[in-house]
Amino acid sequence: MNASDLPPVLVVGAGIMGAGIAQVAAQAGHRVMLFDARDAAAATARDKLGQTLHGLVAKGRLSAEAADAALARIAPIARLEEAADAGLVVEAIVENLEAKRALLRQLEALVSAEAVLASNTSSISITALANGLRVPGRVVGMHFFNPVPLMKLVEVVSGLQTDAAVAERVFALATAWGKTAVHARSTPGFIVNRIARPYYAETLALLQERASTPAVLDACLRGAGFRMGPCELMDLIGHDTNFSVTESVYQANFGDKRFQPSLVQREMVDGGLLGRKSGRGFYAYGEGAPAPTLPAPRGSALPASVRWHGAGAGGAAVTTFGQRWCDALAAAGVAVELAEGSGWIGLEAGAARLALTDGRTATERAQAEGCAELVLFDLPIAELPAGAALACAGARSASEPWLDQAAALLACAGVVPQQLDDAPGLVVARTVAMLVNEAADAVQQGVCSTEGADLAMKLGVNYPAGPFEWLARWEAAAIVALIDRLDAFYRGERYRVSPWLRRRGSAR
Ligand code: NAD
Repeated sequence: MNASDLPPVLVVGAGIMGAGIAQVAAQAGHRVMLFDARDAAAATARDKLGQTLHGLVAKGRLSAEAADAALARIAPIARLEEAADAGLVVEAIVENLEAKRALLRQLEALVSAEAVLASNTSSISITALANGLRVPGRVVGMHFFNPVPLMKLVEVVSGLQTDAAVAERVFALATAWGKTAVHARSTPGFIVNRIARPYYAETLALLQERASTPAVLDACLRGAGFRMGPCELMDLIGHDTNFSVTESVYQANFGDKRFQPSLVQREMVDGGLLGRKSGRGFYAYGEGAPAPTLPAPRGSALPASVRWHGAGAGGAAVTTFGQRWCDALAAAGVAVELAEGSGWIGLEAGAARLALTDGRTATERAQAEGCAELVLFDLPIAELPAGAALACAGARSASEPWLDQAAALLACAGVVPQQLDDAPGLVVARTVAMLVNEAADAVQQGVCSTEGADLAMKLGVNYPAGPFEWLARWEAAAIVALIDRLDAFYRGERYRVSPWLRRRGSAR
């Protein structure tokens, strides 16, 4: 397509998102008109974009010609009427249904019948936005992520009346702008803001029951490959913003307990501990702020011999971990014997066990299995780099010497064991299980495809793998059993297995 064939784009709202969208569209060759209700806001945004583009030139990421050409394509406009020839409108105004509806009604009377009306809303229903318009089929969500020029993902959101051809056109445009587009059906939180809820919720729940500290939980999730732990990430996003997204998804789901916001976070918001931007959240920021610390690891001499139970079971991730662990133990002089068909996964040293969590607490399991000396370890979902934190927890009946020796055995696998209170599902296992479950439910409800969910989570929130990639490394039956056990333990409504997952979990 020649630059002259590209439809002119009108961006309404010249704030953080609107300015970024204008930049990306202009860099892709579109003529861009930028409008804001605040006087001079569009012109100011264009000036700032000039600085941004020339900053990219200084860093050698863009040629001076390309920067000048992109900037020359962006025109602030003072009246919406000046944008009558726009082929695509992207609105990025305040997150308010009535304001957006009023704007769309105004735009509908201005632009041609073929023009697409896209909204960058993060939480408002596209179906509701289209309601009352003469041509509701041309309203579509075009959900960018912040910062727009850097984040690859665009969720293309279809409401009940969105024309499939309109969604395809926006999908193709986003792709031409260098983005990875993913189709989504308009449901609360769309894909990313919905599937990501358990990442925060599980850690907040563990903090509420005082199972551990933010530093330990963050370290364990970083160990599983997440770039940031939930606490440091919430501090970065801002607790006010994170809380309001959770609350909006919760309300939009008619108060479904699965999405219930956390009292821990509510108190932080009430107290103004908003994270980095206020200088304090879970952690303190600024000069002289103490760095988060982890407890000193325990340890002792290794036992002379162990038996590895469950080789080949528990999914590929656990099998790989088990093999490497057994090799490392053998190299450390421990005699390793393989036990077959015992129904659990982990190491046995005499009468003591160090087992993979299955969603029960260590204390429950110690009683059920008649093994007082029981320590559980967390799910090694990823190939753990040396020094990665891995959670463990002992049964109430476990002795101090066995807790020490279990830590020494885990250290042999190259991980740094972090002891939590005896919480069911520890931290990585329950978090990943709930992320997979939420993604499965989104697929069950036709919100997105499995591939779309994986792409969206990797590109929208930088997850190290997509939920369905985790599922392939673990086992549907193990995830279903783990969530069912959390449900039995907590007796709330948060831990409800998705029908999609339950079907896969029982089809063995
Ligand atoms: P912002 O406050 O930075 O910018 C909004 C701009 O819209 C302001 O300049 C404001 O003057 C202008 N505005 C408000 N009402 C208007 C109207 N009726 N007509 C024209 N201009 C109007 O907000 P933002 O963070 O850029 O968010 C904009 C939209 O993008 C919201 O719908 C938000 O939910 C969505 N979004 C935000 C993020 C994010 O991380 N900030 C991410 C994805 C989506």
